[in-house]
Amino acid sequence: MPLFKSPEDLMQEANDRLLRGDFVAAQRAFMSAAEGFAKRGQSGPGGPGQFAQAYAVLMGLSTTNPVAQDYQRVVESLTALGPAALKLGPRTVPAQEVRHEAELAREEQDILASAPGTPEAHQQVGARLQALSLAYRQLGNQVLVLPELFRRGAVPASSKAPVLAALAEEELGEAEVSRNPKRAAEHNQNARNWWLQVGESSRAEAASQRVQRYGRAVKCWFCGREVAGEGINFRPLSSDVVGFPVASEPSALPDRDDSRSVVFACRPCASSVERLADERAKAATKEIEERVNRMLTQMRARAGIAAQWIPPTLPP
Ligand SMILES: [Zn+2]
Repeated sequence: MPLFKSPEDLMQEANDRLLRGDFVAAQRAFMSAAEGFAKRGQSGPGGPGQFAQAYAVLMGLSTTNPVAQDYQRVVESLTALGPAALKLGPRTVPAQEVRHEAELAREEQDILASAPGTPEAHQQVGARLQALSLAYRQLGNQVLVLPELFRRGAVPASSKAPVLAALAEEELGEAEVSRNPKRAAEHNQNARNWWLQVGESSRAEAASQRVQRYGRAVKCWFCGREVAGEGINFRPLSSDVVGFPVASEPSALPDRDDSRSVVFACRPCASSVERLADERAKAATKEIEERVNRMLTQMRARAGIAAQWIPPTLPP
């Protein structure tokens, strides 16, 4: 065995490690090979050093949870390889095909790491998820290179589409919920269908509940405005409504639900009622506190008088 391995030997060693699934050792060998090629001045565009470097960067995705930046590094190093092919374990794949897959994975990680807080941000995230779902769908049943390479199973590209579509619909629903609850309900109906398609019954059920809440329209008991979106634009308020005669001009929309003993209040009416109740409750609490304090003061005073009549210690 030679003392110094040539970069070609190191490439061979790296490939052996790769085939055995030892990705950390493979990455180390690819990096050493890249250094060897660089010493020979072979790391320019199209040179073997550039390939060794790209393979080393790719091995970085073997960690359990690669983030967007990890994929970004792969995208950059594979873009530099142009139309060349990569030998990845048993498969030979065009470098640009792997690059495209890394771009999609980068986008997915980037979206999942975001935390949209405004309707506009939800809208944007929803649109990105839709585009990503479509991109995977367009790849059809082609088995994704990266999960297979890192032994995470044979994943057909199109199998990633429904979950992304479901998430997209939920985001678009969140974007619409305050301005158009009925539209938000439609998006959640779509999300429910996607979740059912992939067998995620609990997520389908959650979406279904949002459909019911957002889609429900009522007439405010107090002001008569017609509003949609339970929990957003109207709230049920507990009331002694059972047995009370129904309105003489019945509306197509309900203003009460006798089975739950509630009347429906639009957001402004509900908030007025709740604030008034809150103020009353605070005033009542203050009054009770004052009364208790007065009683305590009186009791202490009486206890003080009584203490004067009792000797502190009994004589032996
Ligand atoms: Zn109202």
